[in-house]
Amino acid sequence: MLRRTKIVATLGPASDDMDTLCKMIDAGLDVARLNFSHGDASDHRRRADLLRSAAESRGREVGIMGDLQGPKVRVRCFRNHSVALIEGAEFFLDSTLGSLDGDEDGVGVALETLHEDVSVGDSLLLNDGMITLEITGIDGTRIHTTVITGGILADHKGINLKGGGLSSGALTEVDKENIKLAAEMGLDFLAVSFVRDGNDVREVRRLLREAGGHGLIVAKVERVEAVENIDSIIEATDVVMVARGDLGVEMGYAELTGIQKKLIRKTRRAHKIVITATQMMESMIHNPIPTRAEVSDVSNAVMDGTDAVMLSGETAVGAYPVEAIKAMAEVCVGAEKYHLPSGRTSHRMDDHFNLVDEAIAMATMYTANHMSVKAIIALTESGSTTRWMSRIRSDIPIYAFTPHVQTSRRVAMYRGVYPVSFEIDVSNPRRLYQDIFDTLLSNKLVEVGDLAILTKGDLDGVSGSTNSMKVIEIRSKS
Ligand code: PGA
Ligand code: MN
Repeated sequence: MLRRTKIVATLGPASDDMDTLCKMIDAGLDVARLNFSHGDASDHRRRADLLRSAAESRGREVGIMGDLQGPKVRVRCFRNHSVALIEGAEFFLDSTLGSLDGDEDGVGVALETLHEDVSVGDSLLLNDGMITLEITGIDGTRIHTTVITGGILADHKGINLKGGGLSSGALTEVDKENIKLAAEMGLDFLAVSFVRDGNDVREVRRLLREAGGHGLIVAKVERVEAVENIDSIIEATDVVMVARGDLGVEMGYAELTGIQKKLIRKTRRAHKIVITATQMMESMIHNPIPTRAEVSDVSNAVMDGTDAVMLSGETAVGAYPVEAIKAMAEVCVGAEKYHLPSGRTSHRMDDHFNLVDEAIAMATMYTANHMSVKAIIALTESGSTTRWMSRIRSDIPIYAFTPHVQTSRRVAMYRGVYPVSFEIDVSNPRRLYQDIFDTLLSNKLVEVGDLAILTKGDLDGVSGSTNSMKVIEIRSKS
C-alpha cells in the first residue's frame, strides 16, 4: 500500500551530509524544510543544493520549504549566557536594557512596545512555555514580574503572551531579506510565521512574486489572533500549517487537539493544503523509537485528514533523523488502513462547481470511488486538478503526470498525489496512452487489465486546462 500522507522534515546539522539525506529520501521524505530562524543564507543555499543532488541521485522530486523566522519576541543576552530563575523571585524585562546586560535581576527584550502590549496580572511564557512570569508592575519600559515557574533562561529565548495580543507585525527586515533569498533559491514553499490575518499572507505573496519567486505560501497558525481570523487566512493562503509549538504556548495546550481538528477540517473544505507540525516524534531526538503517545498523535493527524506531518528537531538536530522518518512513514500507512473512504460519499453533492478542472476532478473521484479503479492519471500543468482530487477522501492513488519540476515538487505535499515526470509528445498523440501505461507498468504501479481514469486538457500543443476524463484499461507493454 502506498503512503498517502506526506512527510515534511527540517534540515539541520543532523542531516547535513549526502548519505543521511539520501537515506531520508529513501525513508519517505517528501518536502524538506529550511528553518530561517537558524543559520545564514549560505547555510540555506548549501543545504538546498545538497538536498537537490540527493533527490536527483535517488530519482525523486522532493519539494523545499523555507520558513521565515517572523517577529518572534525574544529576550536579549545575559552576561553569562543564561540565568537560573527561581520560583518566587523578582525578574524584570526592559527593552532599553543593553543587549548583553542581562543577569539574575532582569534582561533586555527585542520588542520596543512590549510594555504597551501587556498589563499587570498577565502571564509571560518564556522558552516555549517552560518558564512563567506574572506581571506585577509596569514602570515606563520596565516590566516587573514574579517568577511563577522557574528554570534556566538562556540568550535569545522566545517570549509569548498567554492569550495572545503582542503587537508585532508579521514581517521583520530579516524576513524581507529572506523572502528575496527564497525567490532566488526557487523554493517551492514559503512558510510565514506568526501571521495575524489574511493581509499578512497576501503581503508575503506580493513580496515573493515581486522578487520573482513562484513558491506556494504556507500560513503558520501559531497565534491566538490567527485562530480568530482563520477564515481570512485560509482564503489568502495556499497551505495552512498547524504550528502547535507556539500555538500551544499562547492558547494553552488543553484545547490544542480540538483546534487542530477544526483547522484541518476547515482548510480541506476550502480546498487548501494542511500540514500538522511540531513535537510529533519529539522523543526521537534522543531515542530510536517513538513513544506510544507520539504514534497515536501522528495517527490522529492522519485520521484528521492532514496532507502532511512535519518533523522539526527530530531531523534537524536529533540523533535519529532517518529512523524518525521511517517511523513516521510506517505510522502514516498504519493509520491510513483505518481511514478508508466509505465507498458512498455525499461530499460536495450539493455544491456548485465554478471551474472546469474542478468539475472534472469531482466527476473523476466520484467515479473512481464507486468503481474498481486502480489509478487516477492526471496530465497536469499546474497540478491544480490533482489538488481538487486530493480533497476527496479516497484510497486510489492520484498520479500527477507533468513535464514541470515545479509542479512535481508542489504536488509532493498533496495527500494521495504522486508526481511522475512525463514529457507529453504532442506530435504523436496516438502513442500517448501507451507511454503512460509503460511508465506505470515499469514502476509496478498497475497491472495489465486494471482500470484507470485519465484526465487531460486538449492536447493540440496549446496548453489548456483539464476538460475531460476517460475510463481506460491498462494494456500491455508495446
Ligand atoms: P517553529 O514553528 O518551529 O518555527 O517555531 C512551528 C511551531 O511553532 O509549532
Ligand atoms: Mn513557531
